[in-house]
Amino acid sequence: MAVPKKKTSKSRRNMRRAHHALPSVTVIECSNCGEQKRPHHVCKACGHYDGREVVASKA
Ligand SMILES: [Zn+2]
Repeated sequence: MAVPKKKTSKSRRNMRRAHHALPSVTVIECSNCGEQKRPHHVCKACGHYDGREVVASKA
């Protein structure tokens, strides 16, 4: 098994972890109901996509 020759310093460790943050998720307003939704995804609130209902809404 490969063993590190030198202890990773706090600085090196933190520089590595600088890339660990999760990317922020883009949200837009649904053109049908105005609810926040992700682009190119079916609206979770009303089931609309591309101007028409593709998933039957519960109501
Ligand atoms: Zn909607």
